[in-house]
This record gives sequence, structure tokens and C-alpha cells, in this order.
Amino acid sequence: MTRTVAENAAPTVSEFVPQSVEQAREWVLERISLEQSIRIHGNGTSGHSDPISLEEGGCFPVSSQDLKTIHFFDPDDLVAGMQAGQTAAEMQQLLAQKKMQLMVNPWYPDSTLGGMVSANISGPNRMNMGGLRDSLIGIEYINGRGELVKAGGKVVKNVTGYDLTRMMIGHLGGLGLITSVNFKIQPFVIDPHALFLETDLQNWQNAVGLLQSRRIPLDWIQAVSASAEGNRILLGAGFSGNPERRSRIANELQDVFGEKSFMLADGDDSPEWPCLP
Ligand SMILES: Cc1cc2nc3c(=O)[nH]c(=O)nc-3n(C[C@H](O)[C@H](O)[C@H](O)COP(=O)(O)OP(=O)(O)OC[C@H]3O[C@@H](n4cnc5c(N)ncnc54)[C@H](O)[C@@H]3O)c2cc1C
Repeated sequence: MTRTVAENAAPTVSEFVPQSVEQAREWVLERISLEQSIRIHGNGTSGHSDPISLEEGGCFPVSSQDLKTIHFFDPDDLVAGMQAGQTAAEMQQLLAQKKMQLMVNPWYPDSTLGGMVSANISGPNRMNMGGLRDSLIGIEYINGRGELVKAGGKVVKNVTGYDLTRMMIGHLGGLGLITSVNFKIQPFVIDPHALFLETDLQNWQNAVGLLQSRRIPLDWIQAVSASAEGNRILLGAGFSGNPERRSRIANELQDVFGEKSFMLADGDDSPEWPCLP
């Protein structure tokens, strides 16, 4: 399948959207034999996928967005593996059916797994649950010779020799076309809650510094802009567990955030912030 991405430019470049790994490999081998360079996309959420013409970049675009096969999902072994075109939202929905989750939450739910690995993204869970490099346990990709490389596997401890899985994290599409990824996953946290505070630019950084120095066991922490001018910040800190644990953490948090903070359980709405958490 091809999709035109630069209709007004000449000559026109069509984005190749392979429907299988074999198709992708054949296309890469053809580019290699014709000495043509390629540019890899997922769903383009990072904004690096603007239309290009051959005259501008000389690259042939390819997207892994249609590679969507699910290889395995083993809640008992805490692992899941699927093709790189699955999006973060699709994967989280699948895992949620068994009360499991991927620890990495990107800004854009439409981010493909290949794009997430390639850009080494991290989300608010990184503080307590680790980043992408802590979750990725296996990878399959087509390298610059058109070879299909498989590294890592289905188990968490699997490395002998060079760690090619980690080498592919953050390569921004420069080392190969990722076709499949295997992740370590985690059960849902128990009864998630969060405390929020709307504050100014100076104070939120002080608050984060205090949270870190007090080593409060948070699940996540996130600051988002709360005004069009960008001078107000909504700072959120997530925690979970049984009522005793939550009450202890909430008290410590309130000590840092002060009286103007407000608490929400997962799924609750706030009058001021209807879309949170
Ligand atoms: C430097 C950088 C840092 C970022 N940090 C964060 C962050 O911390 N948190 C966050 O939520 N978002 C972050 N983003 C945005 C994030 O990259 C995207 O929203 C998302 O991860 C990309 O998914 P996508 O499918 O839209 O990929 P695209 O936007 O299409 O591509 C993103 C990058 O991944 C490469 N790529 C895509 N698919 C593949 C593949 N199959 N094989 C090999 N390479 C591929 C592309 O070449 C490109 O370099 C960051 C973006 C960049 C460029």
C-alpha cells in the first residue's frame, strides 16, 4: 500500500505502508539496491513527518503503522509482544482487559510502539515504574542491509553479547525499521489517587524539589501548563495502595502542596479541571 505525501511537489514521493514484515523487507532491499535512502515514520505524532519531496530530502518515506499483529500477551509472565504499528492506546486497552498496563504513557495515545521506542519517550510513571528502557525486553527490526534482526526475547533477563535491544532505544529511525517489540508489563496499581496543585512557575519547581528530597513513594508526577500565557502550572502527584498507605502519602504530600491542593481518585472529575486525572 502506498500513500501520497507530497502531492504538489515534483517528483512526488509516496509513503510506503507495508502490510507485512516481508513486504517491508522487500521494499528496503529494493531501496538498498537502488542506493536510495529512506525515512521512517510511525503515526507522525512527533511532527517529524511533514510532507517531503525527493528534491527536498531525497528520502523515501515508509511507515510501520499497519504492522499490527499481536504475538503474545502473557499476564502470568508479565510480558507482551506485538508488531510496531500498534498504538500505545491499543496496547493499553488490550492489557487492561486483564488488569495489566504498560508503564510508559506517551503524550499522544496514537503514538506507535515503534515510534515510542525510536524516540525513547518517557511518561509520568517513569519516577516510580521506570522508563522505556526498563520495559523493553525484545525487538525485531530490519537493518541497513535489509536483514531481519531479532534481539532480546520474551524473558526479562536475556542478554548475552551486545544489547541490541537497548541500542535501538532513541535511535530516531537511523538504525533500522522496527517491526516488533516485546515489553515487560505490570498489574494495575491499587486504587490510584492523585493530589493536584495549581501554582506558578517558581513554586512548582520548589515543590518538585521538596517531593524528591522527602522521598515520598509516588507512582507518578506531572506538571502541565495551566494558562494560555504559560505562567500557571498544574502539578499532579499520583499514589496508590490501601487506605492506610494512601492516607500516609496524602498527608506528606499536603505538607508540601499546602491547603490549596485538591485530591481526586482515578476517574473522578474536578469542577475546575473536568478532564483530570
Ligand atoms: C527527541 C524526541 C523526544 C520525545 N520525547 C517524548 C517524551 O518524552 N514523551 C512523549 O510522550 N513523547 C515524546 N516525543 C514525541 C514522541 O516521539 C511521539 O509522540 C511518539 O513516540 C512517536 O510515535 P509515532 O508513531 O507518532 O512516531 P513518529 O512521530 O512517526 O516518529 C517518531 C520517531 O520515531 C521514528 N520511528 C517511528 N516508527 C519507527 C519504526 N517502526 N522503526 C524505527 N523508527 C521509527 C521516526 O523516524 C521518528 O524519528 C518525543 C519526540 C522526539 C523526536
